[in-house]
Amino acid sequence: MEPTIITNITSFITNPHRHNLIVVKVETNKGIYGYGCATFQQRPLAVQTIIDEYLRPLLLGRDANHIEDNWQVMMVNSYWRNGPVINNAIAGIDMALWDIKAKLANMPLYQLFGGKSKNAIAAYAHADGLTIEELFSEVDSLLEKGYRHIRCQLGKYGGKNHNMHLPKQIGNGEYFDPDIYRKDVVMMFRNLRERYGDSIHFLHDVHERLFPNEALQLAKDLEPFNPYFLEDILPPDQNEWLVTLRSQCSTPIATGELFNNPLEWRNLIVNRQIDFIRCHVSQIGGITPALKLAALCENFGVRIAWHGPSDMTPIGVAVNTHLNIHLHNAAIQEIQEPDERTKIMFPGNVEVVDGYIYPIESNGIGVEFDEELAHSYPVIYRKHEWTEARLPNGSIHTP
Ligand code: MG
Repeated sequence: MEPTIITNITSFITNPHRHNLIVVKVETNKGIYGYGCATFQQRPLAVQTIIDEYLRPLLLGRDANHIEDNWQVMMVNSYWRNGPVINNAIAGIDMALWDIKAKLANMPLYQLFGGKSKNAIAAYAHADGLTIEELFSEVDSLLEKGYRHIRCQLGKYGGKNHNMHLPKQIGNGEYFDPDIYRKDVVMMFRNLRERYGDSIHFLHDVHERLFPNEALQLAKDLEPFNPYFLEDILPPDQNEWLVTLRSQCSTPIATGELFNNPLEWRNLIVNRQIDFIRCHVSQIGGITPALKLAALCENFGVRIAWHGPSDMTPIGVAVNTHLNIHLHNAAIQEIQEPDERTKIMFPGNVEVVDGYIYPIESNGIGVEFDEELAHSYPVIYRKHEWTEARLPNGSIHTP
């Protein structure tokens, strides 16, 4: 096959709404270019430096056709590897290379993967309220839009509407009490089932806010309410506790959005300790490793629910869609509708229709990027206060 030479690689950081989004553009000697998502909104300049100063000179002049070789070269080139900054930078280029290949093949990306395994992927959206009535109202509006899978939280992660018993002179932070939080979640599920019956799938994200024994107790307490899954019930460094949890209850477990390294997911999958993998495709290094992870999961009966937060570009959302439409074990997709400015900046943005996301039929990834408009909304520093989660005694807890 005639080479497709990489002639330029450019990175963009733009903040059209709330988050610093990172886009990578790879250009070739055939006039065909590709876009990828490398968004790590908390450390955007670090990712940009890896792309501009290290990966661009490494890849210029190479053949874009050889995605596998280019990915392997990028992964080992820093010798120390599998961190979030490097993985996101690699992922942005990897996605752009897949975009180029699908455009060269004159087909949508999911067709290049091998075609569809389903007509559409079910999407789930977020409902949140400080009170159960506020939550009901958000659930009602999502049901009206056609969603049948809804993630429910009472006061974001760890809950916020508590009368916590705090010591004097507390400092800054997002305080939460795991005991109150755990009881509130059980109360929330009881209320959801009483109001909506069993026909709707409800999910919940613990976001690592519990200690292992508390996590075990919550999974058991929620079992009668049949959650679709419980997400990140433990921080990644405590996932060995899932062996104990699964010996005691059947509550479905989903995890993985923080994973960077195959060593973090391999044992969980082959020992069947999770039901759903929730990796963030750019965080693990892009489409190339995502396809391998999906195949591993399929072998062990683990389904896929790619992480889909608001801090990713519509390019990343479209990549998830192509993977979901192709992968037989893709079960569900988390989605958050972007604001109007982001939609204008990324023509071709994926839409949810009556609770489903349908295949993208334009060539490549299928999302364009208005580079001029992106320059009008430059990177903004944020402190990300929500990451400073604290227990009532003031000690930091995983966010
Ligand atoms: Mg999550």
